[in-house]
Amino acid sequence: MVIDISDILMEVGSSKQFDGNVIIKDITYQGDKIHFDSPFYVKGNVTNVGQLLVMNAHLEGIAALKCGKCTESYDYSVDYDIKVNFKSTTDEEDPDIYVYTNNRIDLYDIVIREFLHRLPILRRCSQECKGLCPYCGTNLNNKECQCSDQDHEPIDSRFSVLRDFFVDRDREV
Ligand SMILES: [Zn+2]
Ligand SMILES: [Zn+2]
Repeated sequence: MVIDISDILMEVGSSKQFDGNVIIKDITYQGDKIHFDSPFYVKGNVTNVGQLLVMNAHLEGIAALKCGKCTESYDYSVDYDIKVNFKSTTDEEDPDIYVYTNNRIDLYDIVIREFLHRLPILRRCSQECKGLCPYCGTNLNNKECQCSDQDHEPIDSRFSVLRDFFVDRDREV
């Protein structure tokens, strides 16, 4: 979605409303694929405040994220306000200011960046997700497996090798 802002650039204080859909292609983020079944709906306004253009907008949509515990895909709702500043050029590297070109604002990169910025670090299908069995890989949300903790005492082989080594040496002395 591209907004033509040529009509508000000439006059400080002028403002423009917009709304529409932004179709987002699947992205890979931190090794996880994020899928978007439907476009994000964006509604807001851009105002010329002199040195800057200020955009206030509301984002709505659904992203399919991968649960970090059970690796299943789950729906994550997006429903929040964003506020973004624009300039025609930036001299300094200011990550908080976007640059517009040819009197147009393309919302695509902005929507993705704001979306990723707010993505939870720990992505979970639910608070109660039981994850995968560390021994057989069964998704414990769906069914229980036969592995029990007694059968699979976690053994760190490095330590057992080291322990045997010391035992042998003690014997030789
Ligand atoms: Zn999960
Ligand atoms: Zn198991």
